[in-house]
Amino acid sequence: MHNRDAVFLEDLCPKQRVRRWRQSLHGFTGQSCIYCGNPSESIDHIHPRSRGGLSITENCVPACLSCNGHKSDIEAFEWYRRQRFYDPRRAMAIRAWMDGDLSLALRLLQWAQPIGINQKQNLTKASKKEWKFQTA
Ligand SMILES: [Zn+2]
Repeated sequence: MHNRDAVFLEDLCPKQRVRRWRQSLHGFTGQSCIYCGNPSESIDHIHPRSRGGLSITENCVPACLSCNGHKSDIEAFEWYRRQRFYDPRRAMAIRAWMDGDLSLALRLLQWAQPIGINQKQNLTKASKKEWKFQTA
């Protein structure tokens, strides 16, 4: 049977399985960073690995290198709250992601970033404008 072959292959090639799993995470968010919406180039542990965070879907989110590197081994929420690009809808999405409710997480992310990634630059401009407006 096909299914059994697939499982067998994945057991033989754990690296391949990890790679596919990481790709599927990026696919969920349309290759965008869960924190800031820029292209995701890495996988970030919400609860840092150095503090016992597991490499499971509920604890791993697509993140850009900037957010991932900047965040380092700080708890995601503690770090994210202090960021200029903090968006409560994204924070809710991360919570839902941690709860394993990916469909809710994706709906919240779409709400935070309704346009496609190709219009990323426009989004960045728009959110900067919004930011100025809020601080004025
Ligand atoms: Zn980011």
